[in-house]
Amino acid sequence: MSAILVYDPAMADYRFGGDHPMRPERFSLAVALMRKWGILAEPGDPPSDTRAGVVRPEPATDDDILLFHTPELLAAVKAASADPSRFDMRFGIGPGDTPAFAGMHEAAASAVGGTITAMEAVLGGDVLRAFVPAGGLHHAHRDRAAGFCVYNDCAIAIERATRERPGLQVAYVDIDAHHGDGVQEAFYDRADVLTVSMHESGRFLYPGTGMASETGVGEGRGFAVNVPMPPDAGDAEYAAAFEAAVAPAVADFGPDIVVAQLGGDGHRGDPLTHLELSVAGHRALVHRIVELADEHCDGRIVATGGGGYQPFDVVPTMWALAMAELLGVDVPTPDEPIEPISAE
Ligand SMILES: [Zn+2]
Repeated sequence: MSAILVYDPAMADYRFGGDHPMRPERFSLAVALMRKWGILAEPGDPPSDTRAGVVRPEPATDDDILLFHTPELLAAVKAASADPSRFDMRFGIGPGDTPAFAGMHEAAASAVGGTITAMEAVLGGDVLRAFVPAGGLHHAHRDRAAGFCVYNDCAIAIERATRERPGLQVAYVDIDAHHGDGVQEAFYDRADVLTVSMHESGRFLYPGTGMASETGVGEGRGFAVNVPMPPDAGDAEYAAAFEAAVAPAVADFGPDIVVAQLGGDGHRGDPLTHLELSVAGHRALVHRIVELADEHCDGRIVATGGGGYQPFDVVPTMWALAMAELLGVDVPTPDEPIEPISAE
């Protein structure tokens, strides 16, 4: 089973600073844990059956970013990136969820480049599976940053792949605690990209969308699936909803590749949400997504990170386990509560 981790330590420059809850340690510590478990190849070495290769992405170009975003948003992000005092609230940048920081454009473009690199590696046949823990910034809209997300790496990478390969069918499956609104928006009127999001109901949680009645428009009708969960939903409820709604939707669609957003903020201890998933429950969902890819698209899958606000223990563990699941290597699920992980 060949798989790669798409990662560069510079991806940790995606840092809002201060006491902002989105911290890059969640993926840098995930990578440290993968190394500790022995499931990563040495830098420069090829992947093996039990170790993922490590690939450094090129940053996305402006042309890539403009495949989904407006030129006005790109210009606003660049201006705020060069001088964070020049933020523009009209583009969702400024005090609040998505504050400006120096180097914001470069850091966000690096995440986009990561997911593009992963898509190209899998669709080009170099590897079967790829994981981009710094990706999954699913709230960024076409014309504004939102919800800690500057550029929408999944929307851009899927858009690029479908333009370059007409007829390609992509199933996007999002298990972040929040609705994958930006990715849904990107493909809401299209039949070649199925978007599926399981999330805490928008009646209780940001961004307030993702109702079951949102199913797509025009040619895209029936190609958006939303599975809102009650605030106290845990492992059993998630597993049941997955089998009832997600698995059949992916089976009916028949994708060529699965893109999975594996946000870790559905955990019972997450400070921003109200769900009751365990680490094992999250892992079980990842396992089923990998099985769906095996059943319907010869195993081809690009996985990303996403949200997750327990950055020193829970989320790194979830994402290191996700890498193990993508590799098909059996690593025991650590007991909860999980010890804080260091970068040693
Ligand atoms: Zn989230």
